[in-house]
Amino acid sequence: MCGVFGIWNHPEAAHLTYMGLYALQHRGQESAGIVTADGERLFEHKGMGYVSDVFTEEILKKLPGHLAIGHVRYSTAGRSFLQNAQPLVAHRAWGSLAIAHNGNIVNALSLREALERDGAIFSTTTDTEVILHLVARSRRWDFVDAILWALNQLKGAFTLVILTADTLIGVRDPYGFRPLWLGRKDGAWVLASETSALDLIDAVPEREVQPGEVLVINEDGIQSLRPFPTAVRAQCIFELVYFSRPDSVIFGRSVSEARVEMGRWLAREAPADADIVVPVPDSGVHAAIGYAEASGLPFQFGLIRNHYVGRTFIQPSQANRSFGVKVKLNPVRAVVQGKRLVLIDDSIVRGTTSRKIVQMLRQAGAREIHMRVSCPPIVGPCYYGIDTPSEEELIANHYDVAGIARFIGADSLAYLSLEALLRSVGDPEGREFCVACYTRDYPIPADHQKIKRVRILERAAVE
Ligand code: AMP
Repeated sequence: MCGVFGIWNHPEAAHLTYMGLYALQHRGQESAGIVTADGERLFEHKGMGYVSDVFTEEILKKLPGHLAIGHVRYSTAGRSFLQNAQPLVAHRAWGSLAIAHNGNIVNALSLREALERDGAIFSTTTDTEVILHLVARSRRWDFVDAILWALNQLKGAFTLVILTADTLIGVRDPYGFRPLWLGRKDGAWVLASETSALDLIDAVPEREVQPGEVLVINEDGIQSLRPFPTAVRAQCIFELVYFSRPDSVIFGRSVSEARVEMGRWLAREAPADADIVVPVPDSGVHAAIGYAEASGLPFQFGLIRNHYVGRTFIQPSQANRSFGVKVKLNPVRAVVQGKRLVLIDDSIVRGTTSRKIVQMLRQAGAREIHMRVSCPPIVGPCYYGIDTPSEEELIANHYDVAGIARFIGADSLAYLSLEALLRSVGDPEGREFCVACYTRDYPIPADHQKIKRVRILERAAVE
């Protein structure tokens, strides 16, 4: 879970990257970083926290040049630390290189072990660093050749923006797990995870970078390369369900429209005898709009979200257990009292959030709560960049639907079927998307036990 941005040939490269990252902040809040280039040298600044905490006007002024890349990071390790913040930068005699990555490289540990046996010393615990080491050892003098050689050693999910002193490179792995857009602003080329970032800087969306495509952008123009063997399409459906911004277009779909359609299908598949449709804001809002439309039930904001809850919120020691959810969400008594609700959220992961929300709504006087979820039960951890917990922590691996309903305290519970989810995103045959979190049918054969062990070790290393 990360966001990437890149720009080539703009006098305000650092500032526009800052704005782009601002529009991608939902993709990661742990750290933010920008690296710029002026044709000869790279300049970098990274820090922990929100984009607005990490960068000031003074800092942006110290990032000269007309090329830049940026990154917002959501760490999957227990605690994150500055060394792991991206873009990662490497300096070599023949030039410098910066790289920002969204996704997870599933063979990172094997590659790292081989590189370490060969004498490499790593300075981070991120999977991204293996790319820098591979580039360094490629024995290819041409930068682009070296990068392509390195990329061909990788297995997994990698949307990348790469910067040299004079070249910007955009990469989407052959499966296409994570999104990447190409846009234009004045005479500049822009790369961004989502169109929301292009919109903010008034860039015109040109097209999505295709799965398996590498774009090389420099004084020679823009070059599209296809260096990978072809693979099945495995775009992450959870980007459309939950992760991307609803005002973005990704994988050729409006995220908002896809979510509304999920809600319509949910209403058809799982109707409820109820008075009002209430979303869990913000994640359930668009599906609830679709559910209300298809069911004919009125849509009401029965829960209000406080948008100003920062990362550093200090919880009083006397706080009860539902405090974490309560500070974010509060029921509107006047709306829910005495009512039978259809409560809509995009997903249930551990089940703890839904349980607390149901409890709060009952305390506020809701008469019945029928929970409807706009995707199927999540049973498989994601190895490609979404932070879902281990199999044991996923509630759907412990109970059936009736059991989950009892656990969260709802009068009824239903999930959208996989068939309807795929129809909602316009792929009824399921040819374009990775749905492994619902099926455990992983598109890349990999040693998941090994990946799991790495995560546990990483967590131990930083805690
Ligand atoms: P829970 O069932 O308590 O684990 O939380 C489910 C809630 O978290 C839902 O409202 C989702 O919108 C949201 N959610 C789903 N996936 C993730 C994720 N990977 N990281 C953070 N929140 C998520």
